[in-house]
Amino acid sequence: MQLAQTGQALGASYRFGERVGSGAAGEVWTVTSTEGRTFAAKILRPEHADDPSLVERFVRERSVLLGLQGSNIVTVRDMVVEGSRLAIVMDYVAGGSLREVVKDVGPLRPADALTVAAEVFDALASAHSKGITHRDIKPDNVLLDQPWPQWSPGDVRVSDFGIADVVGERIRETTGLIGTPQYMPPELISRGRSGPAGDVYSTGVLLYELLAGRTPFAGPGPDFSVAYRHVSSRPPRIPVDDELWAVLDGLLSKDPVGRPTAPEAAAKLRRLAPRLADQAPLPRGEAPTEFDEIERPATLVRGAFSDADLTDLASPPAEGVSTVVPELGEAGNATIARPMPRRELSSRSESAAAAEPVETPFWRTRKALLLAGTAVLLLVAMVVGFVVLAPSGKKADTAVAAERLSTQVAGTAMPTGLSISRSASFEPSSGKVRLTLAYAAQKAPLSGDFLEVIPGLAEADGCPVVTWEGAAVSRNQASITGLDVECGWKLSDLEVPAGGSVEVSAEVAVAPADQQAFDQWLRAGAEATAAAAQDPDVKGTAYPAQRLMGVEVRTPARVVTPSPLKITLLPVWAGGADELNPLYVSPASGRPSQMLTAVTGGEEGLRFSDGCGGALAVDSSGLTVTALQITPQCTVRASVGNFTELQSPAFSITSRESSGE
Ligand code: ADP
Ligand code: MG
Repeated sequence: MQLAQTGQALGASYRFGERVGSGAAGEVWTVTSTEGRTFAAKILRPEHADDPSLVERFVRERSVLLGLQGSNIVTVRDMVVEGSRLAIVMDYVAGGSLREVVKDVGPLRPADALTVAAEVFDALASAHSKGITHRDIKPDNVLLDQPWPQWSPGDVRVSDFGIADVVGERIRETTGLIGTPQYMPPELISRGRSGPAGDVYSTGVLLYELLAGRTPFAGPGPDFSVAYRHVSSRPPRIPVDDELWAVLDGLLSKDPVGRPTAPEAAAKLRRLAPRLADQAPLPRGEAPTEFDEIERPATLVRGAFSDADLTDLASPPAEGVSTVVPELGEAGNATIARPMPRRELSSRSESAAAAEPVETPFWRTRKALLLAGTAVLLLVAMVVGFVVLAPSGKKADTAVAAERLSTQVAGTAMPTGLSISRSASFEPSSGKVRLTLAYAAQKAPLSGDFLEVIPGLAEADGCPVVTWEGAAVSRNQASITGLDVECGWKLSDLEVPAGGSVEVSAEVAVAPADQQAFDQWLRAGAEATAAAAQDPDVKGTAYPAQRLMGVEVRTPARVVTPSPLKITLLPVWAGGADELNPLYVSPASGRPSQMLTAVTGGEEGLRFSDGCGGALAVDSSGLTVTALQITPQCTVRASVGNFTELQSPAFSITSRESSGE
């Protein structure tokens, strides 16, 4: 839906021409004034225009923005408030933006890149001297009077000064972040604040992009992993002259104080440009897939440029210092006008969101159902056993069913998503029971050892002989599993796919007297298996798919920003949370526990997410969480295999200063 129509009036003095583009804040249209001059008008989106505090700010900023003039600035001519429509009328700049130049021409000659960047710094210098910070410097906001490659000094015109301040205030109040991830200064990400030095940083990113054809931290992962690299990673070296690299490195300094001011930067670039006049543009490089952590020595970045390009420029790679970020899709270059980590959260947890209104973690409900079901069935089994088996014991030598019998017990899903259905048939000619166990999984694949109790027909009979087919089975040994149960079998190496099932069969040397006895026998086995798995006195990690009741998410009570959040996932057995045998610890060191693999299929089955509106960033793998913003009450959410609605107790995120008190 368009925010205006060709020919429509804008205020008393303008008429809309054509729509030239749209962005996060609104649409840009050409407008013609009553004197016949062409301008560009940015119409703010209704969600911005409906906000009374925005209208107030719009009016307040009006005089500031109207007063901001400079040779490299897109001058704001008028600010129109008309009904619910807010429009900013500015110079129309005909030559397109640097975005198109980057896209169509690729890396620029170093001398050209420096000259263009110097003009951006000129624009910043004059705005900063009037107390205005841009906050959203990127190629899209740098316009050109003439289409590239035509060029004359003064052609660079920076647009959207102060727009972030006008539309971004409310966003910043609630989330602390506004900007475009690829260009965000690290202090904005870690502290939620940036000033003029932030503009210098973003222009450093822009210069890097003009030189290399890509931004330093572009690469795999969604927006926030790109944004987080501003805090955590060094800009990958590109094969430019050492002196130019030193300037770039200074502009991209993590510490705002370490950066030059805008006028200093403009002067440095102008001094350097003539010396690089004869240098050709760099080849267009691929975005790197690995980034150097900030504390670590510089190493070369694979994928960005060929090794030959870099041999004389980069120091040799240090051992084992690369951080591999798994592929999750590209981050865009759009201005973010909503909380960044949320964007990631909503895109990948639709199923979790659907289940969100449930107050109780669903496994609790399942557990209650399961336990209630178990109790009822045990009661039935006891009564049936007494009535049926007591007489059958008396005539034990006469009674074996003469006809073919079959029986089954359907499984109930356990918290891990496992359900075991049992069916059995008795063939009088063989005198044996053929038993089939079907193991089914819900959301997560399940594997590892499974327990099955196969009792005798009567207590006095002892454990029957069982011949297993197609499965690695041994007797359950209490000394190994910690689980002391009569007639227990351990089925190993089963792999139950998510949403699928596997079957295991056995021949059991029992001969039931009749249908009732047969039914009772199969149920007794199912109940004995469930009871053993739910025994609260059992210690240890045996049979996780059957014994795991829940997962507890633990964090420290307080963390400082920005730092990785230590998260421990504890298994909860019938006897309670198991501190000795964590299921997983993030950030992870080494391979995930066997237990985790058994109940989720491994790390793929595990994801953390932000539980406090943008204060936590989760990396693209979903396994590492970083505390970003100061907040008194935060929680981290987790989805572990079938346990999709987990949440940690509240913790606080504080600044380093206040944590040092
Ligand atoms: P963004 O958030 O990407 O900066 P904008 O709403 O600022 O989006 O701009 C949308 C489009 O309109 C851009 O492609 C830009 O090139 C174009 N544009 C913005 N301002 C002007 C202007 N003053 N003159 C000509 N084109 C403009
Ligand atoms: Mg813009």
